[in-house]
Amino acid sequence: MAYDLIVIGSGPGGYVCAIKAAQLGLKVGVVEKRATYGGTCLNIGCIPSKALLHASEMFHQAGHGLDTLGVEVGAPKLNLAKMMAHKDATVKANVEGVSFLFKKNKIDGIQGTGKVLGQGKVSVTNDKGEEQILETKNIVIATGSDVAGIPGVQVDIDEKVIISSTGGIALEKVPGNMIVVGGGVIGLELGSVWARLGAKVTVVEYLDAILGGMDGEVSKQFQRMLAKQGMEFKLGAKVTGVVKDGKGAKVTFEPVKGGDAVTLDADVVLIATGRKPYTEGLGLAEAGVVMDPRGRVEIDNHFQTSVAGIYAIGDVVRGPMLAHKAEDEGVAVAEILAGQAGHVNYDVIPGVVYTQPEVASVGKTEEELKAAGIAYKVGKFPFTANGRARAMQATDGFVKILADKETDRVLGGHIVGFGAGEMIHEIAVLMEFGGSSEDLGRTCHAHPTMSEAVKEAALSTFFKPIHM
Ligand code: FAD
Repeated sequence: MAYDLIVIGSGPGGYVCAIKAAQLGLKVGVVEKRATYGGTCLNIGCIPSKALLHASEMFHQAGHGLDTLGVEVGAPKLNLAKMMAHKDATVKANVEGVSFLFKKNKIDGIQGTGKVLGQGKVSVTNDKGEEQILETKNIVIATGSDVAGIPGVQVDIDEKVIISSTGGIALEKVPGNMIVVGGGVIGLELGSVWARLGAKVTVVEYLDAILGGMDGEVSKQFQRMLAKQGMEFKLGAKVTGVVKDGKGAKVTFEPVKGGDAVTLDADVVLIATGRKPYTEGLGLAEAGVVMDPRGRVEIDNHFQTSVAGIYAIGDVVRGPMLAHKAEDEGVAVAEILAGQAGHVNYDVIPGVVYTQPEVASVGKTEEELKAAGIAYKVGKFPFTANGRARAMQATDGFVKILADKETDRVLGGHIVGFGAGEMIHEIAVLMEFGGSSEDLGRTCHAHPTMSEAVKEAALSTFFKPIHM
């Protein structure tokens, strides 16, 4: 049978693309080599990490802070196996949800490894080595990404002692001490999980700041908060070796600016230095699909590769490696294939770090505005001055709004605080509509909510806040 569309990869890019295309009337098949659908995000990424972040935060709260609310529960006891079972059940429910949606939308799920044979032809080889050739009008490559190692350093990841994020969501016991190589989102989230459960966590980061690319003020304050929670940071540190040693491992690093090397021992080392596009075995070079210098599939503004009828989305192409970015690209490609005008606004893609407090950001940072020479004004409001935050003992953090100095149009929003990942969306919607800080500051916000801090930050961008 000939398809309108074959999607290779069933992560948030691929499965969302398939569903949207099917909803728009296309005959769709999805090729997936993993036993379950949902890709990195549902199986070993976003979803399991959030299940563990939530559970470990509950454990931490039970031991710290509930008594001041008059809730006395005694010292909490960790049942790690049960916590992992919660994570596994969450993953199962989500991946089964994708299977259900495929059936509902009459999408053929084809288990096996896909290879592009050229325009309109995909070969799929299953576990038994059996190959079938699928004919299709269009192909979408949505094969995602894989763990990137440490540049120039040979690291043998065994997922027990030297682990990637995949091992980091499946440890069988809490390590006494853990070194996290890489102070980005994944390292800080998983580092937080194990720190809350009792590990002594040290983050070794090449840059001078954690969360490189985030607003500098946000990054600094956030680091202070994590340090208060017990995490240690070695910044401006270049890791030169990670080796197994007895039951644990040794991590060697030297100051980026020069100086003596230091070696630290750890029970577990988490390598969280980023991810790289995954295109292994896809046959792209033979099919004439051009890659960019960073190993990503090159695409034009309509997601088409150098070969007509072959498109690519998600982690395998340029842009932030985020599930919702992949999803939106999936929708846009499906719309384009159905003859509509698919589009993604890359200026308004929120980013969230799901620690406690959360960090959320959308649009430009102060550093980016300065570099671009754009005159801007800043409005800030701390959660210490927010009634609901006080009631919930969630006063850590602040909201920061950046608006164009001339037009007052909001150019960026940054929040550190409880629920930041939810609150950021009102700034995102405002930015989609080209709104100003005055629009936001004059929008009635329910009281008492954490979101009132967003309104107050907006008020202070164009005039003055009320509660400060
Ligand atoms: P993927 O989800 O990687 O899916 C690609 C799929 O393609 C895989 O299932 C793979 O098996 C399949 N595949 C590859 N090659 C072939 C082939 N030849 N044939 C058949 N199938 C193939 N992002 C967020 O936005 N929020 C988060 O909270 C978040 N947390 C994360 C936590 C962790 C620990 C990790 C590792 C990542 C996290 N991410 C998060 C990133 C997010 O997972 C990715 O951005 C997202 O999964 C990318 O989606 P994708 O569809 O491009 O690819």
